[in-house]
Amino acid sequence: MKMTEAQFVLIREQLIRLKANGGFYADKLRDVDVARIQSQEDFETLPFTWKGDLREAYPLGLQAVPDEDIVRIHSSSGTTGTPVIIPYTAQDVEDWAEMFKRCYETAGVTKLDRIHVTPGYGLWTAGIGFQNGAERLGAMVIPMGPGNTDKQLRMMMDLRSTVLCATSSYALLLAEEIAKRGIGGQICLKKGIIGSERWGEKMRHRIASELGVKLYDIYGLTEIYGPGIGISCDYDCGMHMWDDYVFFEVVDPKTGKVLPDGQVGELVITTLRKQGAPLIRYRTHDLTRALPGDCPCGRPYPRIDTILGRTDDMVKVKGVNIFPSQIEEMLATVKGASSEYQLMIDHMNGRDICTLLVEANAEANKYLLEAEIGEAFKQKIGITVVVKPVDIGELPRSEKKSTRVFDNRY
Ligand code: ZN
Repeated sequence: MKMTEAQFVLIREQLIRLKANGGFYADKLRDVDVARIQSQEDFETLPFTWKGDLREAYPLGLQAVPDEDIVRIHSSSGTTGTPVIIPYTAQDVEDWAEMFKRCYETAGVTKLDRIHVTPGYGLWTAGIGFQNGAERLGAMVIPMGPGNTDKQLRMMMDLRSTVLCATSSYALLLAEEIAKRGIGGQICLKKGIIGSERWGEKMRHRIASELGVKLYDIYGLTEIYGPGIGISCDYDCGMHMWDDYVFFEVVDPKTGKVLPDGQVGELVITTLRKQGAPLIRYRTHDLTRALPGDCPCGRPYPRIDTILGRTDDMVKVKGVNIFPSQIEEMLATVKGASSEYQLMIDHMNGRDICTLLVEANAEANKYLLEAEIGEAFKQKIGITVVVKPVDIGELPRSEKKSTRVFDNRY
């Protein structure tokens, strides 16, 4: 993504300030002469910031302003080990609400809407982010938080909620419950704003059709404000990112090299205005790509694709990055193939060999399927694989997220 002049000016001022003030970035950039950062190319030589760096700064090592300027902290859930604490100034809280208001507006939400907020409140950034943005917009917030399905549905009916804010899994649970109870006629929802995680087209379609709503993907992470730094529009072609607050790059997760627009890699974000805990080139581990060209909606904000997965799910074969959602997408276009597959990567006689096991639907001709999938894989993902169709039920099922890619090379 090309850095704009305005972004460059903000980043440069920020670098100079951070270096002068001491603390986290003065330390991290001690070998960098920030006065010599004169272009985007120079900026791309700056070191990345990793989640591990943020953990090491626990509890308040990231704080970049005096104590009297901090009004709140949030913390990332920290599935492993030490959590990350992000301090916010009053201006940060305000900027976040402003971005979130813009998200609602992009989704066509107005002050006449009633916004049902089911993400959690507390240390996590989700619930309060949805709430502050909605209040700034002037809509009525129903601050439910998660859980207690009976109460959720009752409030949804009695208060005539029109917008549901939820994770995809919770939205699906509510949709199924509404269908099961046969109360769809009493639900007034028109739109769903769904926290961006990787979710398949099938799930999206089920939520949208069972709830009778139009869905929007909202993006964000605790380290960078929280949800609300970008959202999809009516055209469903990626998410607009608020580039007056964040600068984003997409890099090769293995080499860190910045990738051209359109190529899939890891999203890296630099905050432009954040005061409490600014971040420079933060590695999000989210896989996406910058979408070239303009959106039909006419908004000037650049877009990234919906999140395609996490870098941890990715493998590199013959110089090509492969991740599970790409294979799922490819298989969805092949008629005789089910969604179940396994990809095996082996190293034999000095070469990487990929074998794709795919469950074939009962009526499919396995011989033709083999050729068709091989062709589709080559075309969409860019490498040659050995395709082995198997019968439905032959591949293992798991209640949890099952492993589909087996890298046997090391
Ligand atoms: Zn758009």
